Amino acid sequence: MPSLAIVVPCYNEQEVLPETIKRLSALLERLAATHKIDGNSRIYLVDDGSRDRTWLLVEDHAAQGWPIVGIKLSRNRGHQNALLAGLFAARGDAIVSIDADLQDDVDAIEAMLDHHVAGCDVVYGVRRARTTDTAFKRLTAVGFYRLMRLLGAKTIDNHADFRLLSRRAVESLKAFGEVNLYLRGIVPMLGYPSAIVEYDRAERFAGETKYPLRRMLSLALNAVTSFSVVPLRLISLLGLLLSLGTMAVSAWVLAVSLHPERVVPGWASTVLPIYFLGGVQLLSLGVIGEYVGKLYLESKARPRYFIERIVGALPADEVTR
Ligand code: UDP
Ligand code: MG
Repeated sequence: MPSLAIVVPCYNEQEVLPETIKRLSALLERLAATHKIDGNSRIYLVDDGSRDRTWLLVEDHAAQGWPIVGIKLSRNRGHQNALLAGLFAARGDAIVSIDADLQDDVDAIEAMLDHHVAGCDVVYGVRRARTTDTAFKRLTAVGFYRLMRLLGAKTIDNHADFRLLSRRAVESLKAFGEVNLYLRGIVPMLGYPSAIVEYDRAERFAGETKYPLRRMLSLALNAVTSFSVVPLRLISLLGLLLSLGTMAVSAWVLAVSLHPERVVPGWASTVLPIYFLGGVQLLSLGVIGEYVGKLYLESKARPRYFIERIVGALPADEVTR
């Protein structure tokens, strides 16, 4: 019987948290009753520096004896870091990550567990349809997955961060030294046996999305620059094409100048290339700057998060830290 850990990153989730705890606890109870998991199974709630009552709720529920462990980060570090904090702190043979907002189908966890018992190290939760998302979110998501594939990164379509990882897979994750871990890209790189569980994605149970457009763009940019050097290569290609083009034009200019009566004096041919090339150069510098900035951040190797407090029902074999 494996022991199951469910990791839930929570940022300002006071509206949904009590319901999330209730549903996940009911699931643990049901799975334990059917002998699919053992008694050391826990829900790990990672409070990502919430400014509302999220942490108070976690403490309350822990005191009331729910099967939860609360992990409080010292401040908001973002979804991916909160997730990592939970994954690395969690005990258990199978570790499932799920969002706090109940958009992912809690009951799919049982199917994930079955795959795990059958020998899979990674089980991806994949959305069957995106009918509950806005047309905009759907469109940007499709575009994003297509772009990632084009740039040569292996990601699973319509899979967010709802997945099961075996103990072995989590330990392997620890070996990746990058500060900016993009889990959706890294997990497929682990390469262990994997499976897919499909589920229907619901509306957010309550509260608002914590991923406004700005954050979505930053996640996408992070994903591209973490997994692909294709943009850098495109710059070289653009430079090469422009140089070849300029050579051809030079030859033409030379030919024309042999017949002075056909030369038309004009500023367009002088001024336009200046602006055009200026634009291309700035764009290229910008792309290179993205990667240099990334190198800068990675070279500092700053810690991803600090755990301020841990409360709750730690598994029996756990020594309190
Ligand atoms: N989240 C987090 N830190 C943040 C932003 C979000 O831990 O800085 C959590 C949030 O509480 C939720 C999950 O990440 O459990 C996904 O966020 P959300 O549901 O708002 O994103 P969406 O489903 O709208 O993409
Ligand atoms: Mg959500």
